[in-house]
Amino acid sequence: MKGLMMEYDLTIPAILRRAESLFADKSIVSRLPDRSLHRYTYADLGRRARSLAVALKDLGVQPGDRVATLAWNHHQHLEAYFGVPLLGAVVHTLNIRLSGEDLAYIVANAGDKVLLVDETLLPVIEKFRANVSLERIVVMSSTARPREGMLDYETLMASSDASRFEPREPKENDAAAMCYSSGTTGRPKGVLYSHRAIALHSMASAMADTLAISEGDVVLPVVPMFHVNAWGLPYTCALVGAAQVLPGPYLDGESLLDLFARERVTFTAGVPTIWFGILAALDKAPDRWALRPGMRMVVGGSAAPRSLIERFDKHGLRVLHAWGMTETTPLGSVAFVRSSLVGASEDEVYTVRAKQGLPVAFVEVRARGENGLVPHDGVAMGELEVRGPWVAGSYFSAPDDQGRFTDDGWFKTGDIVSIDPLGYIEIKDRSKDLIKSGGEWISSVALENALMGHPAVAEAAVIAVPHPKWQERPLAVVMLREGQKATEEELLEFLRPSVARFWVPDAVVFTDAIPRNATGKFLKSALRDRYREHVPTRI
Ligand code: AMP
Repeated sequence: MKGLMMEYDLTIPAILRRAESLFADKSIVSRLPDRSLHRYTYADLGRRARSLAVALKDLGVQPGDRVATLAWNHHQHLEAYFGVPLLGAVVHTLNIRLSGEDLAYIVANAGDKVLLVDETLLPVIEKFRANVSLERIVVMSSTARPREGMLDYETLMASSDASRFEPREPKENDAAAMCYSSGTTGRPKGVLYSHRAIALHSMASAMADTLAISEGDVVLPVVPMFHVNAWGLPYTCALVGAAQVLPGPYLDGESLLDLFARERVTFTAGVPTIWFGILAALDKAPDRWALRPGMRMVVGGSAAPRSLIERFDKHGLRVLHAWGMTETTPLGSVAFVRSSLVGASEDEVYTVRAKQGLPVAFVEVRARGENGLVPHDGVAMGELEVRGPWVAGSYFSAPDDQGRFTDDGWFKTGDIVSIDPLGYIEIKDRSKDLIKSGGEWISSVALENALMGHPAVAEAAVIAVPHPKWQERPLAVVMLREGQKATEEELLEFLRPSVARFWVPDAVVFTDAIPRNATGKFLKSALRDRYREHVPTRI
């Protein structure tokens, strides 16, 4: 129609063009396996991303093909984030922590043609290589070393010429990236991210009341680049011109704190387990690292207990709690404190900051209980349903698998939530982890967060165990902090003032480690198997 805006596709090449033309000299720093730091700029990234596109094309990769990566966070992985979509192909990040069987299934299901793999992760591909038919394997390292049956990334880049790149503007609804859901039940399922979804997600992430990432920021994504696009941060940073610091394989508290201080990091993001490691290091030696005051840290992927937020505040670091999923690119909600809460008590503000937050612009939410949509009263619980421009509309190679989508086009998250009158979402449980005792729901997440507020508790997972009278009762599985002691009765006593009487777990068992899945979440199915016979007696 005449008089309308021009057609302009929202694409990854457009993000890269902006980064190169306006922020060419902004830095991208990577920690290499030998712990040295590699430094270059967005200008270098752009040139090398084009070289990679040319090299992949020479290898026979066509628009729409999938190119897999199996790699830590570093500059070569970032080149794949941009170079593969520049070619119109799809960058498919594989989770290095999955079993060989899952990886073989995923690579075959995605139809990956080429695999870019870190030299240090070569043992991982041996777990599945025999069962897949990849055309090429390219090894990423800083030293070119010939290997039988494999190509070397730097040799390939040296013989490729960025000037041979023929720009090919993808359409905004073309696929640019791909990731498989963690699939704690059934087979993992593929989600394809379009250029448009990633571009809009980047803009929304940068908004002041979302993650507020801007040109002056120095961003260190601890969240792996193999987990939902490192929460989109590499693209958001390129769009706004923020410097990036990529930690390589070193994700322990001390290595990260060293990098935060050395590179003057202003913004970081990761799952709670990482932050517990950092807190332990900080508590031991609070003055050892000169961190940027007010450094912001996004915590997501699992619930951020209120105690974690409070403890970081004491070190002058600000936690921002966010929720998302593989199927939502991933950002869905962020717990920013809205202006009507200015002046509220400290207790109220912490309560809000520990919720999963308000939906990000263009993400619409609702919750469905047994009798339809539940009111936003902060009490009624239901399954969270979402829709928006970066929410999956179907699964890759399973277009008929409509079980997770409603008839009117919303995605069923599997998270059981309440939504309060101000719009804050609070996750009470995963639907498959719910505890139903005598017909009443008990929130395992609330019990876990409360337990993790006890000074002796490092981690706590609460599961349902079968009960002859109440059908199910909660059992707490607790890992204590190093050198700390607590008894079962002490922990139950600690919980009593903050939860309903019937919520108090029937027993606490102590363990050395809580099993986790490949994305760092508690593997409650394994705990349920382990403690199935643990018949509680308290009630
Ligand atoms: P994944 O697709 O592996 O990223 O897992 C998504 C799931 O992680 C969500 O459906 C939630 O169950 C959980 N999750 C993500 N962020 C949070 C959060 N902030 N609090 C509680 N659970 C979360």
